[in-house]
Amino acid sequence: MRVYLDNAATTPLDPEVVKVMTDILSSVYGNPSAQHAIGRTAKGMLEVARRKIAELINAKPSEILFTSGGTEADNIVIRSAVHDLGVKNIITSPIEHHAVLNTVEEMDHKGLAKMHLVEINDQGEINLNHLEELASQFPGSLITLMHANNEIGTLLDLHKVSEIAKKNNCLFHSDTVQTMGHYKIDVESLGLDFLVCSAHKFNGPKGSGFLYVRNTHKLKPMITGGGQEKNLRAGTENLHGIVGLAKALEISHSIMHEKQERLQAFKNLMKQLIKDSIPGVGFNGLAEEAKSLYTVLNVSLPENPAGEMLLFKLDIEGVCASGGSACSSGASKGSHVLAAIHHPDERTGVRFSFGKFTTEEDIRFAVEKLKKVVLD
Ligand code: PLP
Repeated sequence: MRVYLDNAATTPLDPEVVKVMTDILSSVYGNPSAQHAIGRTAKGMLEVARRKIAELINAKPSEILFTSGGTEADNIVIRSAVHDLGVKNIITSPIEHHAVLNTVEEMDHKGLAKMHLVEINDQGEINLNHLEELASQFPGSLITLMHANNEIGTLLDLHKVSEIAKKNNCLFHSDTVQTMGHYKIDVESLGLDFLVCSAHKFNGPKGSGFLYVRNTHKLKPMITGGGQEKNLRAGTENLHGIVGLAKALEISHSIMHEKQERLQAFKNLMKQLIKDSIPGVGFNGLAEEAKSLYTVLNVSLPENPAGEMLLFKLDIEGVCASGGSACSSGASKGSHVLAAIHHPDERTGVRFSFGKFTTEEDIRFAVEKLKKVVLD
């Protein structure tokens, strides 16, 4: 038996998504930029996908820019904010995904914009008072803070950050890669300027995602060439990937409530089973259900002879999970998130993450195997 509990890394494709994608691959070969009927068919499908996505997040179709995924979309926001929108200061946190953190650091190292790190606590929660201080000290900044942390699952209150951003004339970007398809996101009521999406996190294809850009912001292309995507991203569109993305998002929205209830129950069950069987175990991130991603459970295991081999041993036992140690001692490997929340180096963090194909049997099997590799 093999159990896949690494859905925050990526998810298996939904068969319905495979179907729409393979139909396109085998029959819709037109270039969406071509003027003739075959090209227009492709263009039509592209625009239907854009409208569907826009509707699901309450945006306008013209505010959706298709990208190769979350990394590219995060890069576009940060680089464009600096190069095209005059941003001189960027407020972010030490636990952002590297797609954000490395890009902001690059802007800072090149002297193009100053990076300001907002304080977080040991559960990965943003200190909103400190955020407010930074925003009022540096009005007009770009605030880039993730909606949910991909390693420990701590959620951000987007409404509160949006209010702080507005009050201080800041732009607000949220990396919503881990929440898109798992929570309802309404860009209008949240007042976000930018958000990003990656299809492979909710049973869609890899290499396909989008960036939401509020209409008022005029960006310039990062990839230049043809006039695709209203001159914002050159290159022939990945039609099957885009239609697969729209289908995956549509399915996710249609099952969202049921999925959240079921996966939250699995997360609670797994937490309880682990607590009951492994002495000295803890959990990283916020405990409160409403403040933690229901798809992620990050387990903090006490010092163990298996050490770094723990994930490898779990894999041999048939459990796919991810994680590691903090390695705050400066080693190049290790988790910058666990280091930032002061997770002790000698403990091991294991992230189990759930998706719509996860079953209760998977959870019970994984806990048995975890017990075996930790306690035997
Ligand atoms: N941001 C977060 C929070 C992620 O978890 C990931 C993927 O792991 C990304 C960005 C990058 O997305 P992609 O794999 O589509 O480039």
